[in-house]
Amino acid sequence: MLMMAARMGVLGTETAFEVLARANALAAQGRSIVNLGIGQPDFPTPEHIVEAGRKALADGHHGYTAANGIPQLREAVAADLYRRHHVEVSPAQVLVVPGGKVTMFFAILMFGEPGAEILYPNPGFPIYESVIRFSGAVPVPIPLYESAGFSFSAAEVLDKITSRTRLIIVNSPANPTGGVVPRAEFDRLVAGLERHPHVAILSDEIYGEILYDGAEHVSLLGYPSIRDRLILLDGWSKTYAMTGWRMGYGVWPEHLFSAAERLAINCHSCVNAAAQFAGVAALTGPRQPVQQMVAAFAERRRFVVEELNRLPGVRCVEPGGAFYAFPNVSGTGLDARTLQNRLLEEAGVATISGTSFGEFGEGYLRFSYANSRAAIAEAMARIGVLLGGLRAAKAGAGITID
Ligand code: PMP
Repeated sequence: MLMMAARMGVLGTETAFEVLARANALAAQGRSIVNLGIGQPDFPTPEHIVEAGRKALADGHHGYTAANGIPQLREAVAADLYRRHHVEVSPAQVLVVPGGKVTMFFAILMFGEPGAEILYPNPGFPIYESVIRFSGAVPVPIPLYESAGFSFSAAEVLDKITSRTRLIIVNSPANPTGGVVPRAEFDRLVAGLERHPHVAILSDEIYGEILYDGAEHVSLLGYPSIRDRLILLDGWSKTYAMTGWRMGYGVWPEHLFSAAERLAINCHSCVNAAAQFAGVAALTGPRQPVQQMVAAFAERRRFVVEELNRLPGVRCVEPGGAFYAFPNVSGTGLDARTLQNRLLEEAGVATISGTSFGEFGEGYLRFSYANSRAAIAEAMARIGVLLGGLRAAKAGAGITID
């Protein structure tokens, strides 16, 4: 009888991948499926980036690199952070890793253990809670409020800090809500954190360049009072449509860097060498491809929000960033998971139940609008038919829903 470690029993997952598998299985049976479930740009990686990867392979970059990444890439990251946020980051603090997720995994493993508490956004990226549990720490949810554009309340977050709190995770712009935390809320949070020097902060800013209508991305790198305990998570997946290249980075405080690098050496040695050269091209090349992708997302966002607000029982706030809409669907009379399943099975539209992102996601569905306008229009028409039918059935039974 094999005996797996007990911690394997608490490891969660990303439902997005399960929904994708079910959607693909239905499509393989000949069903027409519109996929608004998966969270990745529908654009190819810009050509000059692909070319840099191809060239690196042709030039013979086939071996290991330094565990923390090639120097020109770490320098390019530091220069890019200066361009975006006007802050000085030393290339020596940059740890290049295979995807944004890895910085999250390392930071949580570094601070989480039985007896420790870690605060994380809920609804939020599901891997936060999963890895916190895996580490043995207690996950303490930070509720996000639809009425506040899916921001947290700094006062409430600060209230949850105890002597056992080791790490607090924030994510703006956010998955799954598209919410952007306003500067004033971050100001209050950081001012309060100054009274809790035992708490490290992981700021997941992977959607930092995907912003709309003048929404402001506030990087926590801009707060000097917490720089010595701030771990910044960022990467190439979303901004440069590079999810499959597996490229991300963390900016670590100097005194945590060698521990993080040691985790990297124990885990993956280094990131794919050619991908790192592609990463340099992404950061140092023309910005226009990124601007074009964001402009396309902006147009689809306006469309998806308008269409969602037309559906019976659905209301949707304008997301400030990322490429997700997170409508409140409680007026449909169905719980989020049931609605997710019925939309997929009966209407052929893949979405993700808000509960896949934590308990406070009940009553919401996540729509990724990283898909064509035609696909979004088709999905909305199909959902309209299904919800219209539900409403008619309820009205026939004498039940009113709004
Ligand atoms: N953080 C957030 C908030 C995300 O949504 C994602 C990807 N969906 C990641 C991190 C991980 O990105 P990567 O694919 O680069 O590991």
